[in-house]
Amino acid sequence: MKNINIHPAISSIEDQLVRHRRHFHQYPEIAYQEKQTAGYIIEQLQGYDLQIAHPVALTGVVARLENGPGPCIALRADMDALPIQETGDVPYKSLNDGVMHACGHDAHMAILLGVVDALHQTRDQWNGTVKFVFQPAEEGPGGARQMIEEGVLEDPGVDAIFGLHVWNYQEFGTIGVKPGPVLAAADEFIITVKGTGGHGAMPQDTVDAILVAAQLVVNLQTITSRSLNPLEAGVVSIGKIEGGDAFNIIANEVVLNGTARSLRAKDRALIRERLLEICAGIGATYGAEIGLDYHDGYPPTVNHPDMTEIVLAAARKIVGDGTGAPFLSMAGEDMSYYLEKVPGCFFFVGSGKATLAAETVPHHCSHFDIDERCLAVGASVFVETVLSMLSG
Ligand SMILES: [Zn+2]
Ligand SMILES: [Zn+2]
Repeated sequence: MKNINIHPAISSIEDQLVRHRRHFHQYPEIAYQEKQTAGYIIEQLQGYDLQIAHPVALTGVVARLENGPGPCIALRADMDALPIQETGDVPYKSLNDGVMHACGHDAHMAILLGVVDALHQTRDQWNGTVKFVFQPAEEGPGGARQMIEEGVLEDPGVDAIFGLHVWNYQEFGTIGVKPGPVLAAADEFIITVKGTGGHGAMPQDTVDAILVAAQLVVNLQTITSRSLNPLEAGVVSIGKIEGGDAFNIIANEVVLNGTARSLRAKDRALIRERLLEICAGIGATYGAEIGLDYHDGYPPTVNHPDMTEIVLAAARKIVGDGTGAPFLSMAGEDMSYYLEKVPGCFFFVGSGKATLAAETVPHHCSHFDIDERCLAVGASVFVETVLSMLSG
């Protein structure tokens, strides 16, 4: 058993954290529908000395705990669930058909509610303001951006922001944190190949859109294998192809839909440029008309080095050696929008029940569940982070 030191203000309310998480888990709501979720949060925030703003970004809640002069720190939790039918057999199974907290945002909200209580309890140990940001629509289209537009980082201005994600790929008792990029830019592209259809037996009179699409699928892989510096990360994946009518007809049009991931702005620009060049080159080679629609998704999530040091120190206090290997993934997160505006750090709290990677239940899976002991760990790291910044 690992040596874990839960902050005393959290260990006294551990059962509350679990109760909150299970409530959220039973009543999940998808992006921008988090009305009951917001209602529950506001209800739980009664009785504390807080300024509460709602609705922010349609369904978001921002609670401000003012405790004398000092910096303002924001802590963020996302609120939305996913359109998935839960298949796991747990006593707190989703009661909303076809909707499930399969990413762990139920845990994030429970943790933040616990931190409200803990920082309220420990008011004599710190000075400043803490903003508790409950944000909708992380799974898309990106509630963070709307929260920022509606002023969540202002009045008073936020000096630093922190967020976390429970993470089943890490076992319980570990914290993943590193400076610099930790999650990728998550862009989408749609390529439309227009050829000239015709009889399957007379290809000489056609421009075969399927053959051109096949060339594209293969050649696009050279962006990451040949154009990108192998020491930097990038992904180009085609997730969907549509085209063709019948076995004996040469296809007129094929649509390819994919995602491009990168950790740095220059790599993001390079991938986009190479996509354009390859489309143009293959179009010219085969006489097809190729169009590219490129949509910017969430930017890369980039941690500030000083803020990361503070979280690292807090994490070491809680999990000691469990402050594990630097964490990095090509998934995307809209926490990135806040981190573009103010320094901060986004870290990963081990929630995996299994010790074997093969048995790990991935996020967004219909029987996703977490080791609930991670709630107290995540909350403790938040509390230690705030105390180290706001206690003189
Ligand atoms: Zn997710
Ligand atoms: Zn998530």
